[in-house]
Amino acid sequence: MSTLSNRLRRTLDELRDAGTYKHLRHLTAPMAPATHLDEVGEVLVFCSNNYLGLANHPEVVEAGIAGLKKYGAGTASVRFICGTFDCHLELEERIARFLGTEAALTYVSCWNANEGLLTNLVQEGDAIVSDELNHASIIDATRLARQATRKVFAHSDIDALRTVLQEVDQAAVKLVVTDGVFSMEGDVAKLPELAAVCREHGATFVVDDSHGTGVLGEHGRGVHEHFGVPAAGPGGVDVFTGTLGKALGGAAGGYVAGPREVIDYLIQRSRPQLFSNALPPTVACSAAKALEVLQREPGRVARLHQNVAKMRGGLQNLGYEVLDSPTAILPIIVGDTAEAIRLSGELLKKGVFVIGFGFPVVPEGAARLRIQMSAAHTDEHIERALQAFEEIKAS
Ligand SMILES: *Cc1c(COP(=O)(O)O)cnc(C)c1O
Repeated sequence: MSTLSNRLRRTLDELRDAGTYKHLRHLTAPMAPATHLDEVGEVLVFCSNNYLGLANHPEVVEAGIAGLKKYGAGTASVRFICGTFDCHLELEERIARFLGTEAALTYVSCWNANEGLLTNLVQEGDAIVSDELNHASIIDATRLARQATRKVFAHSDIDALRTVLQEVDQAAVKLVVTDGVFSMEGDVAKLPELAAVCREHGATFVVDDSHGTGVLGEHGRGVHEHFGVPAAGPGGVDVFTGTLGKALGGAAGGYVAGPREVIDYLIQRSRPQLFSNALPPTVACSAAKALEVLQREPGRVARLHQNVAKMRGGLQNLGYEVLDSPTAILPIIVGDTAEAIRLSGELLKKGVFVIGFGFPVVPEGAARLRIQMSAAHTDEHIERALQAFEEIKAS
């Protein structure tokens, strides 16, 4: 134990010395564009995944309470024993219809969904090919899929993907996996090209659209709607994964959506399904309501895009370099990790909550402030944030 303690203490000291130690700031009010942060007070939130402002939407909250009353606090079971409730089936049906797939299956997180899919779909002699900037859950899931050949291709590099697919040409099943929206750059996967290359090579195309769902496309269906790529069939996406913890209410939970046979197979074989409790009914009810609100009010997606444009334009007028993208993620590269953290602290003093990301989350020298916009931000919120960005520029 003393060896472990010493090591842990040394690592924690190193993090403190480097200025990269994470302090868990905590909220004392609901997640909303303006909320209350302990020890800070009122803050405007520009770092949450509450893209559509549904986390604290009255109908979404009410649906969760109704679900709690109707079904109780938990499932007390995995899905296949006695943990499948009608609210799960309704939510899965709604997700599938929304995305345009045959079927969907929920997990307690998208992390679990990726692990369930990637580790259980492939067998010996298969291959998984993954974009180098994919989310940590895809990286870890791929690591666990030890029965398969695993390859990484350079970020969004279609030629690199082709080369890798040629290397694994003999594999029986080839999965190509990409984030729909890359969380640190805010850029969008080149879906049409990726889908075409998958088709050329007979590969199955898997898209984790956690940051794209509810954000991209006119109806917020995600990256495939953005590009007009079909949600199924040749030249389209084969399987989606996604989260309920971002635009779709923000509580928790994830899903796999795709052909019926993939979903049926995952119900039989995927280990997080078989050995871990089902999504709590209250969360399923809230998420279903969030989807309903999104479908009823596509204006929320339009408003989010307007807010992104307003924030981007304002920051550029102030002389900030914002990476370009159609998503709700606006990274400002500042270079040094400690500087990103310092700027984030300055913004917080002015009541604007934006996180700085540095090494090892992003490459050395590419530390950044990452702004995340919400449809629920008002013009005044955005103006106040821009004011703060102007002041810290002068500091
Ligand atoms: C946020 C995110 C996840 C994790 O989602 P959870 O439901 O919180 O586990 C997985 N994949 C991507 C691409 C994400 O952005």
